[in-house]
Amino acid sequence: MAATNNPAHSKAEIVSIGSELTSGANLDTNSQWLSRKLAEIGVQTGWHSTIPDDHEVNLTSFRLAASRAGLVIISGGLGPTQDDLTRETMAKLAEVDLVFDEASWVAIQEMFSKRNRICPERNRVQALFPKGSEPLPNSNGTAPGIFMVHNGTILVALPGPPREMELMWKNEVEPRLLKADLGKLGLGGGFLARRTIRTFGAGESAVEEKLLDLTKRGAEPEVGITASNAIISLSITARGESPAEAQSHIAPIEATIRDRLGELVFGADNDTLQEAVASLLEELKLSVSLAESITCGRAASLLGAVPGISEWLAGSLVVYQAKAKERLLDYPKHLLETEDCVGPETAKFLAKSVRERLGTDIGVAVVGYAGPGDGGPGKPAGLVFAAVDDGTEISSEHTQHWHGSRSEIQHRTALMTLNLLRLRLLAKKSATPKNPLQSSVNSKESR
Ligand code: AMP
Ligand code: MG
Repeated sequence: MAATNNPAHSKAEIVSIGSELTSGANLDTNSQWLSRKLAEIGVQTGWHSTIPDDHEVNLTSFRLAASRAGLVIISGGLGPTQDDLTRETMAKLAEVDLVFDEASWVAIQEMFSKRNRICPERNRVQALFPKGSEPLPNSNGTAPGIFMVHNGTILVALPGPPREMELMWKNEVEPRLLKADLGKLGLGGGFLARRTIRTFGAGESAVEEKLLDLTKRGAEPEVGITASNAIISLSITARGESPAEAQSHIAPIEATIRDRLGELVFGADNDTLQEAVASLLEELKLSVSLAESITCGRAASLLGAVPGISEWLAGSLVVYQAKAKERLLDYPKHLLETEDCVGPETAKFLAKSVRERLGTDIGVAVVGYAGPGDGGPGKPAGLVFAAVDDGTEISSEHTQHWHGSRSEIQHRTALMTLNLLRLRLLAKKSATPKNPLQSSVNSKESR
């Protein structure tokens, strides 16, 4: 397994095989999964190829992949049927014969008898391997995988069904790749550690402006920025000789990001905004109620997904028409005349009213135009007002520049409303005295 001087060989290629994938019937999820796994062991993926069950296309793709990549991971085409061509194509690529492996045939038969099924003779083909390659046992199915080296490129063929592929990767492939010393093969090597910092409240470019030294190309660790549903995420990727070393490069970058972005940061990795709100409510022992117009209960629905929230979330009133606002929350005539249900005073009034009506520590309200059409002149879709009332202070926020479908605007509005609540809770938290005597009095009171 000699290293090559070709820089393209320092990358891996993933080839997914199946006409059901290229026709659009099924989504190729194996490539995504494999790319992530390769990244964890420090190998960059240079190409994804998705190809049909076609002899010519298979051979051309394997040749191209083997010529440009140092490592080729193939998934699919290892079944016993006529459209499963991976074994044959690999043998053709290496210009070697297929040879029968007795141990694999025994394992295939055992897999059938474990499932109380008769092993068809047809499955014998799954025990054929390109001469010089290594069979990879499959503990979740019948098709063994193939590990082969051809002109310095490692080719690995894995079964298509994700649960078989994933287990074979973990048990057979990853250990072999780590043992092969990827660094020596020119495939990068080392280990990757990842951390994602989640933020809400500023746009992608505004966030990046504060971090330009970290997000610039070639910076180590690498910091990438992505936006989804108004949540801006920063993913830190660090490399190291060991998982612990890679991890150790993450902490200082994470600290810098948190320091510069302050309250924009609501969590890390898989944390959600609603979980951040729920844990602050729990920490501060505060109850909350909502009055939702534009979002029709979506903010409460997000919050309701967090286990244990029933202790802090009293309820949410969906007060959509003016009639509902008037009858359930005493929305006054003068506000109807001045703001016609959408405006800053309306949001504040409803927040206060729902807090009093439901007897909670905090009331939250949100109104606005979800679109797709405008609400009238000066009332564009995406114009939204939210307010949070904690009995002593009212905070409010509005936006007019959210573009998107009706559902996107409603979802972002629900997140914006929860974020306003989060910021109020953070302000209350920092106002809470840190005096240990004081906190013991507080904890007694809360029992
Ligand atoms: P095969 O190994 O080609 O016989 O694939 C068997 C089954 O695995 C297919 O019918 C799909 O359901 C699934 N499969 C194959 N390739 C992929 C892929 N790239 N992503 C997700 N599922 C796949
Ligand atoms: Mg197939």
